[in-house]
Amino acid sequence: MLTFEFLAAGPGDACLVRWDGRAILVDGGRHGTYESAIKGRFQRLEAVCVTHVDDDHIGGVLAMLGALHREQQDQLEPSVVIERLWFNHAAEILKVPADVVRGASFAQGGNLRRLATALGLRRNEPFGDVIRQGVTASLHGLDVTVIAPGPAALDTLAAKWQRHDPQVAAAAVKDHSVPNLSSIALYLTDGTTTALLTGDARADHLLDGLAACGHERLHVDVLKLPHHGSAKNVTADFFERVTAEHYVISTDGTKHGHPDAEALRLLVRSRAAEDRYTIHFTHRVEAAERALDELRAGRRFEVAGPPVVLTSTG
Ligand SMILES: [Zn+2]
Repeated sequence: MLTFEFLAAGPGDACLVRWDGRAILVDGGRHGTYESAIKGRFQRLEAVCVTHVDDDHIGGVLAMLGALHREQQDQLEPSVVIERLWFNHAAEILKVPADVVRGASFAQGGNLRRLATALGLRRNEPFGDVIRQGVTASLHGLDVTVIAPGPAALDTLAAKWQRHDPQVAAAAVKDHSVPNLSSIALYLTDGTTTALLTGDARADHLLDGLAACGHERLHVDVLKLPHHGSAKNVTADFFERVTAEHYVISTDGTKHGHPDAEALRLLVRSRAAEDRYTIHFTHRVEAAERALDELRAGRRFEVAGPPVVLTSTG
């Protein structure tokens, strides 16, 4: 049995994946999401994945590791045992010294790396130095395939980087797409249930990654829409090639007008009128509900959540 709990992470992402008494956490929302939605839900994690350094993904993980670090300093038993941290630090992707990578988001990445080292978490094990498209792992029966970042995203990231003098590297991080480009996307399955967790990756990079992993088209049980349902990250082609029983939109609607009505239109129009599927929300977002109401006539999709707890008994 594989369960996906998409937690109430405000404008961000936090997904707890459970199977056979084990769990991994993919992103932690903002700092406050740790106290409000994550803390106390588990005693052990096989892995924590931070898809990228943006605050609405990394903040809650920093809060959790910070709390564990304080427990360690106070010589207390850890409230959570974490085996691994899956996270690409910009300096490792770009093969530059960590101290030339500046900017608020990347500083958080540096903090995460320091906390992980202090807590003795195994970094990116068993994937290698950089988590990149095509690498796979099996964690006690949960198969993990990395769909992104792939060569296109990593090359674009490096090119953007090289246009800036590393000494004034802070300028590079003002382009918000730089962290998004590096988003880790994961395809997860226990052999029965399947899910695609997309971080804030872009549709073209996701499609490239799926094709490289042998999926020209893909039908999954669970698809988390990339980038909180932003229209900038999806295309009609994406929704035609990647279909799902359960689509998940993780946002409270307070940031960038997510989800975009256009993204919802693309999703619904990619499916046949008689198709049955469900669109889940981690928070009530009235604008999105109105947009879906306008698309509903003659169609059979359902809208659900919060909460978003998706379980398959296989
Ligand atoms: Zn985000």
